[in-house]
Amino acid sequence: MEKEKIELQLAEFPVCEYAFIKERDISFLEQIRYICETECPQYGSSWSCPPAVGTVEECRERCSRFQEGFLFTTVAEVSDLENMAEMLDTRMEHEEITRQVRDLFREQCEEVLVLSTESCAICEKCSYPHHPCRHPERMFPCIESYGILVTELAERYGITFMNGGNVVTWFSLILYR
Ligand code: SF4
Repeated sequence: MEKEKIELQLAEFPVCEYAFIKERDISFLEQIRYICETECPQYGSSWSCPPAVGTVEECRERCSRFQEGFLFTTVAEVSDLENMAEMLDTRMEHEEITRQVRDLFREQCEEVLVLSTESCAICEKCSYPHHPCRHPERMFPCIESYGILVTELAERYGITFMNGGNVVTWFSLILYR
């Protein structure tokens, strides 16, 4: 994989920070899954979240097929962090950028696995659990749904996860081989 080519192409995207990472540096934590189960209203209501994504061990195994990864952020300033509609808009932009960055990796790689931010919000109402996901090509499971503490990974690679004020920092992780 030509990282330099990816870096040149990335210049066209509003990516804030990024790092090429090693899959072995990712921690998969049952504690994160516990938070999903006990604190997140999306638990059990989306294909992008647990339990639909499988156990943490299954997620770890899925990721272990890859050795390399790419972690990146986009940032967006909102007038009010409590304004969910505004937050969702910025998130949808991040998801679109994630799809485009994924396609850059697909041009060069045999296989990619993409995780992104929070529960999928493409459909007004998720088809989970009675029907398959309507947009498997566009839907990315949430990073935390895999038991990954993204702030720890970001810190390890020097990526800022708090950008201050009313700035939202969105993360995506692309594993590739
Ligand atoms: S694309 Fe639709 S069906 Fe698939 S996970 Fe997202 S909301 Fe659910």
